[in-house]
Amino acid sequence: MKSLVSTCLAVAALFAVALPSSAQLAQSPINISKEATVKANLPKLSFSYTQKANLTVKNTGAPDIEATIKALVVPGAGSVTVSGTTYNLLQFHFHTPSEHAVDGEETPMEVHFVHADNAGNLLVVGRRIEFGEKNEVLAPIFSKLPTIAAPLMLNKVNIKDLIPETTTSYRYAGSLTTEPYTEGVKWVVLSEPMTFSSKQVAAFQRLFPLNNSRELQPLNGRCILSDVRKAKKD
Ligand SMILES: [Zn+2]
Repeated sequence: MKSLVSTCLAVAALFAVALPSSAQLAQSPINISKEATVKANLPKLSFSYTQKANLTVKNTGAPDIEATIKALVVPGAGSVTVSGTTYNLLQFHFHTPSEHAVDGEETPMEVHFVHADNAGNLLVVGRRIEFGEKNEVLAPIFSKLPTIAAPLMLNKVNIKDLIPETTTSYRYAGSLTTEPYTEGVKWVVLSEPMTFSSKQVAAFQRLFPLNNSRELQPLNGRCILSDVRKAKKD
């Protein structure tokens, strides 16, 4: 186990030295395959999200494939601390279908919680969205998705409930999945999916009939670390 992690890190270091940053070989999203995943004791994720967030929800240009529905939060609404560094929540937004695949399987949607530390380093928490129960926390957004011209202002949204109790995850070094595809993004894909009703998914897909997800990118020797105890499917 340990030697595998060391190998991964060694490969990562080699890439960092040998390749120019313009090569863009550590891109997102990726397929999280069992073969590329290494079990590890990962540093704990401590989420601190408010139950009363004020959100400004914007339509950034539907149906453009690079556009989305983005909820901007005010500073202090949420953060995640890992290995002593706190990353503050800036915004969260949605993709259809999911950007990350797990063992080749995609889900109807995915949400990305974008965080930055004080130095501007990005950490994105992704959570895949499956068909199931209606998402009550996000119902005010998905029952009235905003137009480009008219952002939606919401008060007291319980964003704490968007993070599951079990925060086991897959973690890897990747990039933004939209222009300019900047690398050095810490990715945390939570293993526990969120559910949306088929109506909620349909409302989003009506805005993005051509989808708004980037295609899967090659791993190029990266490995994925995981503290997921049991494979979801076998
Ligand atoms: Zn995204």
